[in-house]
Amino acid sequence: MKIDFNELNLKTLLDNSIVGVVIHDWDTSIVYANPRAMDLLEMSYDHLIGKTSYDPQWHFVDEQHRRLMVYEYPVNRVRKTNTTMVNEVFGKVNEETGDVRWFLVNAYVERQPNLPDGKGFIVVSFNDITDRQNLFSYEHILEHAGDVVIVTEADPIEAPFGPKIVYVNKAFEKLTGYSRDEVIGETPRILQGQLTDIEACRRISRALHEKTNIRETLLNYSKTGKPYWLDMSIMPLFGRNGQVTHFAAIEHDVTESVFNAQQLERRNAELRQIKDSLNKLVQEKTRQLREANMKLEQLAYYDALTGVPNRRSFTDQLQKMFGFCVRNSYPLLVGIFDIDDFKYVNDTHGHGVGDEVLVQLARAVDDQFRIEDVFGRIGGEEFAFASIVKERKAADILCARVLSNARSCRVELADGQHVSITVSLGACFVVPSNGIDTDKVMQVADRDLYEAKRSGKNRFVISQC
Ligand code: GH3
Ligand code: MG
Ligand code: MG
Repeated sequence: MKIDFNELNLKTLLDNSIVGVVIHDWDTSIVYANPRAMDLLEMSYDHLIGKTSYDPQWHFVDEQHRRLMVYEYPVNRVRKTNTTMVNEVFGKVNEETGDVRWFLVNAYVERQPNLPDGKGFIVVSFNDITDRQNLFSYEHILEHAGDVVIVTEADPIEAPFGPKIVYVNKAFEKLTGYSRDEVIGETPRILQGQLTDIEACRRISRALHEKTNIRETLLNYSKTGKPYWLDMSIMPLFGRNGQVTHFAAIEHDVTESVFNAQQLERRNAELRQIKDSLNKLVQEKTRQLREANMKLEQLAYYDALTGVPNRRSFTDQLQKMFGFCVRNSYPLLVGIFDIDDFKYVNDTHGHGVGDEVLVQLARAVDDQFRIEDVFGRIGGEEFAFASIVKERKAADILCARVLSNARSCRVELADGQHVSITVSLGACFVVPSNGIDTDKVMQVADRDLYEAKRSGKNRFVISQC
């Protein structure tokens, strides 16, 4: 069966439609509204019929909640431009409650051939999309966001008038302590202060002039002067014609993390300082330890009073030298000398003077030996030496020099007098071989020393073995 639309009862169709339909006469007065339209507009048939678009009761807004002028109403747009309106969103505001009901609107002119200039009825159909529209509101998000949002005009930018603040959200009021009314019309510069980075402000100003995005971390001040750090992203906002009309700044309070970073930096600096001090301390302790070790070594191997090798050290070195002479068949002279009547020196002039005598004697005799010779203090006022000598005669010369050096020692006394001494020396001239050892050689030298004492002191006795 072929359908004949002329036969269809369109009135019945409209009366049962779930889409609201309103038909306006060319003067915009309403000539028909279907039940769904009355329902959606919350008005009775009698209220709607005859009402024109100029009726002050209408209150329409666009998606941005901006109140529409009469000429912007769908009926007038279509009438004026003679075009069809497809799926545009309009909101009808309930004057009493302020609630907005959102409609998806279509409109066109149903031309009447009997009317001139394309005049006719204007058919406006609309669906309720409030639920969809109210699913969430950008404005709500903006208003209640945790981050600060500031919108300024794009022009003028320069101080002192621009850029002018046109919007701030609740987070702004909370962070800065300024109310919205106080800052609308002001510039965000009122938030800057003494320590705000001038360079960062310059970079922001440049970005505003160039109308580009910028991100900066900046110090701002609250109404009471409390400083806070912001991580701010500024972006240009574009109008319908593509020109930049506003700037929006989204600002995150990073005071805590900046503070933490500063604290961390301070802590690190402290740690670095502690590390430096520790290093210095370790270096100092190492130096002290090395010194102490050197002192210990000195104590272990050297005589504390005279500074020459002690008995133990002398014995060690003598052993080595002896071995060397055995291997090379070098003749060696080993001698022991002892201060004559030293007890008398101590008793007469005191122990201090006695000590000084020991120091001077050690120094004087030590000076006469070569680096490869061995010399040391082996007892109270007893010294010993070992020296490689070519022949017996050289041994005599060396012993005579020891005696002479000892005699030349002088210790000055407070009364202008001085103390001088003599020594007695016993020595063993030997060509070391595997049959002889150092103990034996020392015994011989000691016996000779005793002989030198016994036969008058201030002399030397040398045996050969
Ligand atoms: P001799 O000619 O027989 O060697 O007589 P002497 O008086 O030197 O011999 P003696 O062994 O009787 O005395 C040695 C003295 O040396 C006794 C001791 O007090 C002294 N003496 C030993 N060591 C030191 C020292 O380090 N400093 C001082 N001032 N005296 C010391
Ligand atoms: Mg003695
Ligand atoms: Mg003596």
